[in-house]
Amino acid sequence: MKCPCCSGKSYEECCQPYHKMEKHAPTAEALMRSRFSAFAIPNGDYLMETTLPGKRKYHNKADLQEWGEINQWTKLEIIATPALNIVEFKAFYTDENGEHQIHHESSVFQKMHHRWYYVSGDFLE
Ligand SMILES: [Zn+2]
Repeated sequence: MKCPCCSGKSYEECCQPYHKMEKHAPTAEALMRSRFSAFAIPNGDYLMETTLPGKRKYHNKADLQEWGEINQWTKLEIIATPALNIVEFKAFYTDENGEHQIHHESSVFQKMHHRWYYVSGDFLE
């Protein structure tokens, strides 16, 4: 199957090795892509695992899993990477009512012990 992150590569050659924890995403953008794919799959464990440990208390694995499941994740667009640790993106999805939605966010990531983690995001209009 094609990778849900819209890289044009197959899932096996793109985000799957990150989801299986065989490799760590080498850049904030790669991690962002793999997290989008993890919503599409969905894989709540991976979403939790790639959240900065100090921020995990603000998230809930079951909620992440459910958020992935109830929506249909159609497309990811990377808008800009203004710094090594910042990725602005648009995630396109269809919600449970069949409405097309766009989640536009600027996310902050942090590298710790050679791994990238999601810190937080600002929702944009
Ligand atoms: Zn991918």
